[in-house]
Amino acid sequence: MNERSELTKASRVVVKIGTRVVAEPEGGLNHEFLDQFARQIAELEPQIVVVTSGAVHLGRRALPLRHVDSVSLRQAAAAVGQPELMRHYAQTLADHGLVGAQILLTTEDMSDRSRYLRIRNTVEALLAEGVVPVINENDTVSVEGVTFEENDRLAAVVATTVQADLLIFLSDQPGLFTADPRVDSQAEFVPVVRPGDNISQYAGAAGGAESRGGMMKKIAAARTAMDCGIPVVIADGGEDDVLLRILAGEGLGTLFVAREPMAGRKQWIATVVEPAGEIVVDDGARRALVDKDGSSLLAVGIVAVDGNFQAGDVVTVVTAEGEEVARGLVNYSSEEVKQIQGAHSRQIPEILGHIGDEEVVHRDNMVLTAD
Ligand code: GLU
Repeated sequence: MNERSELTKASRVVVKIGTRVVAEPEGGLNHEFLDQFARQIAELEPQIVVVTSGAVHLGRRALPLRHVDSVSLRQAAAAVGQPELMRHYAQTLADHGLVGAQILLTTEDMSDRSRYLRIRNTVEALLAEGVVPVINENDTVSVEGVTFEENDRLAAVVATTVQADLLIFLSDQPGLFTADPRVDSQAEFVPVVRPGDNISQYAGAAGGAESRGGMMKKIAAARTAMDCGIPVVIADGGEDDVLLRILAGEGLGTLFVAREPMAGRKQWIATVVEPAGEIVVDDGARRALVDKDGSSLLAVGIVAVDGNFQAGDVVTVVTAEGEEVARGLVNYSSEEVKQIQGAHSRQIPEILGHIGDEEVVHRDNMVLTAD
């Protein structure tokens, strides 16, 4: 398959390792997996960035209150488990002649454009030195409600941040099925998903409560990556030489074919930043944004504003029915948008008492997110 052979050209790959791949369900780390993984990285030509889970799982095992499910305990568990997780990664990579580096991230780090660029530069520097970055969420300091929640999304964000040309999810599932293969004998394996394919009805497939959530999150994360131009493979981490084989173009796992790549700044707007508010637009504005490729958002089409934001924040553009149309960097504060909503651009200086941008959100700083 053509799309598969494209993967052989990948020069920078983000690989996400799930807890159930790197650790035994009732036990500690899966050393055999880690060893095989490090060996493959050492053999591979492309640069590899690892996003790994497992800190909370490992840390919990060391805590007396391991069965209590509170936010603080999860954060405490991560504080105990992360150094252990990293120690094993560093040791196993070293066994194969590689140097590992730990990077712990929060959504706030990534939403701040200058910190985001700093992170990107650091990863660039590490990769240029031949070091393997090993990334996890900084669970101990993440604030409830604004976390990446799970590492699938973090991996998609990292893939866009480092401009990877492939994202691989190593999971305990062989990939995506049309239904849960364990309970439905009609379930069919889905080898390839193309942009525009409607796979939302498959999301409930593959596994019990936990893995169902897992597959849904993976599909959402895969969509983010493919929308940004990065193909994704979900494959079974237990397969022999899984990385080598995917990167040799073998039809392993489910391939999500990417759309045309998006500019880096737009990727950041679309995937990384938490929107600070909402701008509600009328039908005419919606049509201009979605159908007339190239239109900016003007004040005349705005009917309402929700939230408090400053000029330069990222906002969501929605319809009165609540459908998300776009995200973009806004040129005015929420107070100013309230004053100029419905007005023609030429009236803006008079209303605000100063000359401002003609566009409330300029097309170059906007990403369409409507289906
Ligand atoms: N950051 C969490 C950990 O290392 C994992 C989150 C997830 O399950 O994806 O334990």
